[in-house]
Amino acid sequence: ESLDEGLSKTKESVFKKLSRAVVGKSKVDDEVLDNLEEVLITSDVGVDTTLKIIERIEERVSRDKYMGVSELNTILKDEISDLLEENNTTDVSDFDLPKKDGPYVIMVVGVNGVGKTTTIGKLAYNFKQAGKSVVLGAADTFRAAAIEQLEVWAERVDVSIVKQKMGSDPASVAYDTLASAKASNADVVIIDTAGRLHNKVGLMNELSKIKKVMQKIVPDAPDEVLLVLDGSTGQNAFEQAKQFTKATEVTALALTKLDGTAKGGVVIGISDQFKIPVKYIGIGEKMEHLQIFRRREFVDSLFS
Ligand code: GDP
Repeated sequence: ESLDEGLSKTKESVFKKLSRAVVGKSKVDDEVLDNLEEVLITSDVGVDTTLKIIERIEERVSRDKYMGVSELNTILKDEISDLLEENNTTDVSDFDLPKKDGPYVIMVVGVNGVGKTTTIGKLAYNFKQAGKSVVLGAADTFRAAAIEQLEVWAERVDVSIVKQKMGSDPASVAYDTLASAKASNADVVIIDTAGRLHNKVGLMNELSKIKKVMQKIVPDAPDEVLLVLDGSTGQNAFEQAKQFTKATEVTALALTKLDGTAKGGVVIGISDQFKIPVKYIGIGEKMEHLQIFRRREFVDSLFS
């Protein structure tokens, strides 16, 4: 599925709102800027990031007093794309991974329901397509369903999985997973974790214990801590990002369910507020529906 299709709800909404924002106008004036501010805020870009973007556009308008509204799209795309670049969103070209000694370890965090398991399954599929051998670790031992769902995905995409029974120590599962991956010379390990936010100290301790135990086998593990957020939940996603970044060092974001929302602007706001690169976006339930986030392509699609 194409990015344009996946983002169609947000695209249509942004297009409509932008058209309304400039109707009857030829120049970018204060009223257009006010309207633009509203377009961005109602697309879940977030207030702070919106103000930052508006400020930059204001600056350009002050230099070019006769800036036409026809140029607004291009300027928006440039400014947002620059903003994302400043947040370290460097585009990776495919599902290739840096060469290293031992498996590349991705620890996946996020609350239940955001699409964590699905994202892990999709990642496994893509890495496998890219010729990598993948091992999944079912370290969300809190819910039986989490282990079962991960097993379903492992079977579906035909990768191995390491699990123990429900209620067992997540760190022990992570340890077993890395040991197995190392023994089989696997390229990439993806560890699922339980995202129970009601107890921040508990979450922090659990994640740091998992890390410590993994480092007994792969000293620099994890290579990536991927926070999965539901892109259709706006402020909730911001709140979860705040909690998880306090609990552990998050190195990358995956924003899911962007196909189901008209508010895909959340991708821009979250990346900007937390200075964490968005690496993947989910635009559907199937394994083909995970894309590498490419900022220019994303922005072009949104404001086309
Ligand atoms: P978890 O509890 O975080 O592991 O969440 P799941 O992976 O079980 O996903 C919860 C629901 O969201 C499932 O019905 C998934 O099919 C659905 N889902 C996950 N990612 C996406 C996405 O990108 N788009 C859509 N439309 N649905 C998604």
